[in-house]
Amino acid sequence: MKRADLHTHTTASDGLHKPSENVRMAAEAGLSAIGITDHDTVAGLNEARQAAKTYGIEVVPGVEISTAQDGQDIHILGYYADDRDRVFLARLASQRRVRDSRNELIVAKLNELGVSLSWETVLDAAGRDRGPDETVGRPHIAEAMVRIGAVGSLQEAFDRYLAEGKPAYVLPPRIAPAEAIAWIHEAGGAAVVAHPGLYGADEAVESLLRDGFADGVEAYHSDHTAEDERRYAAMAERYGVIATGGSDFHGERKGRVYHGPIGWRSAGADVVHALRERAKDRRAARLSDSPAGGGIASD
Ligand code: AMP
Ligand code: FE
Ligand code: FE
Ligand code: ZN
Repeated sequence: MKRADLHTHTTASDGLHKPSENVRMAAEAGLSAIGITDHDTVAGLNEARQAAKTYGIEVVPGVEISTAQDGQDIHILGYYADDRDRVFLARLASQRRVRDSRNELIVAKLNELGVSLSWETVLDAAGRDRGPDETVGRPHIAEAMVRIGAVGSLQEAFDRYLAEGKPAYVLPPRIAPAEAIAWIHEAGGAAVVAHPGLYGADEAVESLLRDGFADGVEAYHSDHTAEDERRYAAMAERYGVIATGGSDFHGERKGRVYHGPIGWRSAGADVVHALRERAKDRRAARLSDSPAGGGIASD
């Protein structure tokens, strides 16, 4: 049966492999489609689409937007949004500005805590050849901390400093999940609540599905237990939304594949189809809403 891994990261954010490499690995894993869902950027999509032709599989264009509700980080996945939509691109750029200043605050906190890390070292860890639309994240900061010998592993960097509740954690001003969902819809995409099992906030997740905002929920994820998967699949069923799945592959860092290898979690071809149809509906709605009224008069 045809399977799609709908959640992977590349060098456009905090993944270790180029978009074309993710596509190649997905083809080698026998998948028929792969989602490219970088944090707050669509910079990896064109390369992935190009590679899709070479490797004969389908790329599901995506993005993973950082939001927060009641102090809890919540990630929203967007599929098939128009990645040339100027408003959407400007919104993602504003997310990256928030992220950049958050990163600087984290480095400042680390310095206060006696970890003398420079921003330059973080940039080195992230790769000097990064494009302006590519995002820097906590894994790069963790990598830089390993490089200067402040910690022995990435996990130690998160456990001692960077994870929620740790001394160098910074929660920046974030948009609400419903706002990210609206951005995705306005760009003609389908919105999915990412890895709900990581939040410990089922009420919040449920309200995003129930109140008709989100188009789906990522029931299958590398860090979900079997019980999580059953619970979220049932929740999707209850609210008539799409149950998606993906590995959240970031590559292998220091012997650990975070969150899981490509294809570790996946969804069926029917799910890809449903997401595409949902996005089509969103695009149609967008056209009929536009002042030009292009939806009816013209074809
Ligand atoms: P950011 O978006 O910059 O806040 O970074 C969040 C990212 O950090 C997640 O998408 C993961 O890639 C990574 N991450 C979060 N927690 C851990 C952890 N305990 N170990 C390794 N990576 C982590
Ligand atoms: Fe990440
Ligand atoms: Fe995430
Ligand atoms: Zn992710």
